[in-house]
Amino acid sequence: MQSEQSVESVVRHFQQELSGTSCRLVAVSKTHPVELIREAYDAGQRLFGENRVQELTAKQPALPADIEWHLIGHLQTNKVKYVAPFVHTIQSIDSLKLLLEIERQAARAGRVIQGLLQFHIADEETKFGLSLPEAEALLQDAAVQQLQHVRLAGVMGIATNTDEEPQLRQEFSTLRGYFEQLKARYFADDAGFREISMGMSSDYRLAIEEGSTLIRVGSAIFGRRAYPAPTT
Ligand SMILES: *Cc1c(COP(=O)(O)O)cnc(C)c1O
Repeated sequence: MQSEQSVESVVRHFQQELSGTSCRLVAVSKTHPVELIREAYDAGQRLFGENRVQELTAKQPALPADIEWHLIGHLQTNKVKYVAPFVHTIQSIDSLKLLLEIERQAARAGRVIQGLLQFHIADEETKFGLSLPEAEALLQDAAVQQLQHVRLAGVMGIATNTDEEPQLRQEFSTLRGYFEQLKARYFADDAGFREISMGMSSDYRLAIEEGSTLIRVGSAIFGRRAYPAPTT
């Protein structure tokens, strides 16, 4: 989609499409160079998503400090320390162990990091994420009730890679249901628990209709990802 349009014009198009909604755009810049990220930044984009720690830590120093970096990929506990000094949101929290390590590293960095609980909503086994009972067990842990350096702000999910609209809608509405149940049971008095991160280039319109507050869009903005050629 839109591979011939400039990054700037696509970003402006999203700004128009989202204005008047409560949904915001996370521009997913993985595999793309800092020059393209800068073009999106210059068009006014401030939320960017990367899925790999190494790539994120390489790009971050080369770009403006007021970018809100979102880590959207699976995160190993031993890598949290590399992103804790600057990351704004970790969208991929899928275990108590990871959550407590983020708390520890954010404390060391003297920061508060926003976190989203990642849920498994796709019918594919390869996608990471919690079930609702697992999320509830995590939230009931005594240590989680004492968090001072992680602000839990909502939920995230990756839908099945399919064109089947009814299935996508059902997966998005499942995630929204999880959000609403957790909100009612654990965050009723916490206005900061408000994010539902769902929807990508091919399905973001459906996700918005189903209540998304953060769409994560990569290829529709930056074009197809060029994967590095295999080394021989
Ligand atoms: C790559 C990625 C996206 C963006 O995918 P596009 O199809 O390029 O929009 C969104 N979410 C996650 C978790 C991703 O890894």
